[in-house]
Amino acid sequence: VVDVKEINKLDKETTPPKRYTEASLVRAMEKENIGTKATRAQIIETLFIRGYIKGKPLEATELGIKTVGALSKHAPDILDVEMTRHFETEMEEIRKGRKKEKEVINEAKQALLKILNKFKKHEEDIGKVLGEAEAESYKRMNTVGKCPVCKKGDLMIKKSRFGKFVGCTNYPKCTATFGLPKTGVVTVTDKVCEECGHPIVQHRPVRSRPRLTCINPRCVTWTAEFKEKQKQEDEIEKTAKGKSVKTKKTKKTQKKKTKAKSTKKKTKKTAVKKKKGKK
Ligand SMILES: [Zn+2]
Ligand SMILES: [Zn+2]
Repeated sequence: VVDVKEINKLDKETTPPKRYTEASLVRAMEKENIGTKATRAQIIETLFIRGYIKGKPLEATELGIKTVGALSKHAPDILDVEMTRHFETEMEEIRKGRKKEKEVINEAKQALLKILNKFKKHEEDIGKVLGEAEAESYKRMNTVGKCPVCKKGDLMIKKSRFGKFVGCTNYPKCTATFGLPKTGVVTVTDKVCEECGHPIVQHRPVRSRPRLTCINPRCVTWTAEFKEKQKQEDEIEKTAKGKSVKTKKTKKTQKKKTKAKSTKKKTKKTAVKKKKGKK
């Protein structure tokens, strides 16, 4: 219930004035007293995952706009900020021991039943509108990019009983498939790998920053050497930016330092390999 209202707000308020960023939307929710400190960021994340919003700054998607449109036409109570706020306050009252859980749940049940009954009557209409938008959104959110193998089909994220993978729309003519990380969230990008020309996806591992990765497991960007080289380049760039005034001599010593570091890492890695071998 809370999710949809956020789009409503986005839709109504962001077109003329400034668009929300994630941070300013959290602040706006705070001001409107929607959600709690613990849930606000999660609510926005859910809007992303379900395809209601996209981009930076935030933008309502076709699906988001159509969802709000269909709901405000057929079940406007669902979009009522007041109601969500009311029940959030009630839950707070339960936590503080001022209200009985049973009382609040009964009241919520009544309110939701009323809404759902109305919704049920218009289910078909709502379904039709949302079905189209959903299909479009599903396609957009799962298209990884052009297939570099057959150069005709699109690579799409597909589901099998073994989990998600990337396959070509030109199947069975093209049997190109690629694995995806088993944990975390994978989202598509419009980027292509500079090294091998395969599409790039964004992978957000559990409790870690999102990173861009090439879907091609044979890509040079996956090799330890490439990662090491990139790390070194980043470091050199950093030092060059920060200490461009320094003399050549210091630069040379810095290079030596990075070299020393990388050899250290390499020895560490081989040590790990040896360990594994023993096992
Ligand atoms: Zn293909
Ligand atoms: Zn690549």
